[in-house]
Amino acid sequence: MPSGAASPAELTARFAAEAAAVSDRLGYEGLRLAWTGRKKGILRAMLAGMKDVAPQDRREYGQAVNELKRAVETGLEALAQRLAEEEKAAARRAATLDVTLPGRRPALGSLHPVTVVNRDIEAIFAEMGYSVAEGPEVEDDYHNFEALNFPHDHPARDTQDTFFLNSGALLRTHTSPVQIRTMLARTELPIRIICPGKVYRNDNDLRHSPMFHQIEGLAVAEGITVGDLKGTLEAFIHRLFSADTGVRLRPSFFPFTEPSAEVDITCPFCGGSGASLQGGGACGVCSATGWMEILGCGMVDPRVLAECGIDPDIYTGFAFGLGVDRVAMIRYGIPNIRMLFENDERLLRQVQP
Ligand SMILES: [Zn+2]
Repeated sequence: MPSGAASPAELTARFAAEAAAVSDRLGYEGLRLAWTGRKKGILRAMLAGMKDVAPQDRREYGQAVNELKRAVETGLEALAQRLAEEEKAAARRAATLDVTLPGRRPALGSLHPVTVVNRDIEAIFAEMGYSVAEGPEVEDDYHNFEALNFPHDHPARDTQDTFFLNSGALLRTHTSPVQIRTMLARTELPIRIICPGKVYRNDNDLRHSPMFHQIEGLAVAEGITVGDLKGTLEAFIHRLFSADTGVRLRPSFFPFTEPSAEVDITCPFCGGSGASLQGGGACGVCSATGWMEILGCGMVDPRVLAECGIDPDIYTGFAFGLGVDRVAMIRYGIPNIRMLFENDERLLRQVQP
């Protein structure tokens, strides 16, 4: 055996000690290379040392090196198994549920303010015998303008307000085309409908969004008067806001109604006084006027009825329209219409339907 070198028995003990100290895969790899490496491994050096052993001792030396080799191989296998088990146990520990940790609440969804207001308005008119009618958001000039008595030079047709599509179609600027479609497709009179839906105008500031929500209503029958219109709207407003809300009509103009009116309600924030309830001063919501504009309305223009094949000498009707987003902003004190469409969960959390 080579002089000055460790014996196979000493090396077996050394390997066992080194293997016991290994605690991870990196250590395992180092140990494996040090002992079984093809160029500098200890086993390789032991076999190379055979030539320095006296011929009569070679058989015994060879057997001892073989035993060492088997011991190293078995030891490496056992070590690999031990490391795998330790890794599994560590993973199990990491996945264990700590039942003492505080719970994490999932963010609960809630109805959007516009949805809440839409449903409230639909419910009020459903009780009055109205049904819900819907129509396409991509419209044509006839249903959105022409049948509604919009003159060809009316500013609302201008590209400043209307989104025109390349095909010549347009995004509806109000839900009035649903009224036209309903009257054209009617199988019977009277008609009592409300038309909720998205509408589009090229407008964008604190109070205007390019997309917003409208609800329009239409009633057509024999003998409908302005008194019916006013009574219906008062009943609606008293249900939507409160029974003591004041209502006033101001003369206005819309191409599809004659006469036409804007409807104001007493400001829900100052009760119509115009004075701020918090610490005096002027009410900022209604600019101290005590009134807020809430909807537009009028008697359906006889030309619109005739266009839809309804005899205006027999039938009359009224129509009205309001912005759902505006009602939601008033009800929930939301200062900027864009906040309705930013999907900020904090806004929804403030809304109690
Ligand atoms: Zn006010």
